[in-house]
Amino acid sequence: MGSMTNPLLSASELPFALPDYATITADHVREAAETGMREQLAELEEIATDTAPATAENVLHAWELSGATLDRTMAAFWVARAAHSTPERDAVWKALSPQLAAHGDTILLHRGLYERLRALAARADRGEVELDEQDTYALHRRLTDYERGGITLDEADQQRLRDLNSALATLAVEFEQVLTAGRNAAAVHVTDERQLAGLSPDEKATLRSAAQDRELDGWLVPIVNTSGQPLLDVLEDRGLRERIYRASVGRGLSGDHDTRDLLVRLARLRAERASLLGYRDHAAYAHEITCAQTTDAVNDLLSRLAPGVVEIAEREAEAHRRRLEAIEPGATLEPWDWQFLAAQDAAENSFDTDRLKPYLEFERVLRDGVFAAATALYGITFHERPELVGYTDQTRVFEVREEDGTTLGAVLIDPYTRPTKKGGAWMTSLVRQSQLTGDLPVVTNTCNVPPPAPGSPSLMTWSNVITLFHEFGHDLHGLLSDVRYPSRSGTAVPRDFVEFPSQVNEIWAWEPSLLARYARHHETGEPLPPEWVDALVASRQETGYHTLELLKAMLLDQAWHQTPLEELPEDGSGVEAFEAAALERAGVAFPLVPPRYRSAYFAHIFAGGYSAGYYSYLWSEVMDADTVAWFRDNGSMSRAAGERFRRQLLGRGGSIEAMDTYRQFRGADPDVSHLLTRLGLGADEPA
Ligand SMILES: [Zn+2]
Repeated sequence: MGSMTNPLLSASELPFALPDYATITADHVREAAETGMREQLAELEEIATDTAPATAENVLHAWELSGATLDRTMAAFWVARAAHSTPERDAVWKALSPQLAAHGDTILLHRGLYERLRALAARADRGEVELDEQDTYALHRRLTDYERGGITLDEADQQRLRDLNSALATLAVEFEQVLTAGRNAAAVHVTDERQLAGLSPDEKATLRSAAQDRELDGWLVPIVNTSGQPLLDVLEDRGLRERIYRASVGRGLSGDHDTRDLLVRLARLRAERASLLGYRDHAAYAHEITCAQTTDAVNDLLSRLAPGVVEIAEREAEAHRRRLEAIEPGATLEPWDWQFLAAQDAAENSFDTDRLKPYLEFERVLRDGVFAAATALYGITFHERPELVGYTDQTRVFEVREEDGTTLGAVLIDPYTRPTKKGGAWMTSLVRQSQLTGDLPVVTNTCNVPPPAPGSPSLMTWSNVITLFHEFGHDLHGLLSDVRYPSRSGTAVPRDFVEFPSQVNEIWAWEPSLLARYARHHETGEPLPPEWVDALVASRQETGYHTLELLKAMLLDQAWHQTPLEELPEDGSGVEAFEAAALERAGVAFPLVPPRYRSAYFAHIFAGGYSAGYYSYLWSEVMDADTVAWFRDNGSMSRAAGERFRRQLLGRGGSIEAMDTYRQFRGADPDVSHLLTRLGLGADEPA
């Protein structure tokens, strides 16, 4: 494929600099990435060898402007591959991952570049050059990257570091590929319709077409990422529930899709890298650049919650045992019964959120819910541009405008599950906002809402609604960014901070005035009955089950990354014992509630960027709960409150220390008591 025809080698001419997905091939990506790496190295070499006195312009600005081809290519590719992976894209990713890791090392081990950064810092210290707070922070971050990247190691250790990084990159890709294949293979085939009791005709139709897609008769129950499976809420047949549960939690433990050796090698190589760089373990290395800052701080938060959460889960288990006894006398409560009994309990005693489905039509939720909340808070409006296409024809492009009509950026919405999409939901940046480049932000919102059966409306579950609001919170962080440096734009904040704006955005889903607009019956247009709204708000209390499954996954992540190399399993056969011992030690063994992800399918930490960082969701939630309390006291979903949150916090992105944006917005450090109350643990719970 010749460069003349490669659209990735020059800036896109399409509106919003959208990648020209209609013409981009896997070969284009490969060629443009390789060209982009060479271009960037040449551009950085110029910075390193510049003999002029170091300034913000000739060091920091020039650095940010380098690598445009590479950034453009990888942003376009990453978005497409995650949401629509093909064998060609997978092959390109597998080939590029080690090359990109090596490229990153070449930059971070480049002495001349490091000296140039130090020269700028020294000039700033001497007052020879003036750096404002964004320059100062960008410089600090680049210097930190160098120190963490091994610049001070001798040559032999630097080579070892390069080898480790390249091996880690390759293993992470392999883990993900085996995992995805294993998830698809774990789907449960059902041939006897009686076993599907409890499902609606629509749900059955979806399973039927999943079976047809694989040329099977009967029905196919797909397995989602988490240990818990959505259909376990409703399936009445205990045998089928058990099959689904075992298919889910048994992933990665045997056969063609065994991930255990891969994850052990990842954990061991990470431990080795950490000690090479002078850290006690990988967790210490990872935590250093987060809001938590230390492993002790992370462990403190997790261990503070553990006993109380287990106690709540034990109370829930007691209630489920009584209910099961009434249905099937003498039966023992098993993990595959929990979700079903909890849903029954909710239906009778509180609120069965499934009843909401006819009121949660996707288009209405999007426009009159998610978009409308953003308009009420931030003044921005959304305008579909049907002539623009994303990476598949199911991806819709919306232009985002300011209150005065000027264009702010764009968001791509891609709600529905397809076999080529990764599980879960996520946001990405196709183009990062920057005053330096003048680029407007372009973000994506990718969910896994089951596609509607042909001819039917797309009715959402309540949890899918919350996910849509959540991911849109990340989108807003990207869209409302107003910073100089693209590398510090929007969501470029520590991992334990980045979930906080998205968690805050979830609260608007519950806002009664907004519910009245977006939750309307898809046939009659009737709003939700007021008593349902009350019940929904009342049902908001997190269950012990949910907090415990999260906590267990967080503790597993810490165990894999805080255990010294010599105590880690030597190969995959030690994974299950290691996992059991870690949970036991933390006091959360409680086998009725599985970790949200078991090690063998924990993509966040073994394939994604969350190693030693899965606790971040909880850390972010401390700020989330504190901010929700602030909104409650400051006009709730109002333009004035939104404006403050936008200007002091969202708009600052990662351009200065994240916790400083928080303190400026809130006027104080976050108060953990709001989270404890939310989790039912009470602010006075002993530490
Ligand atoms: Zn998130």
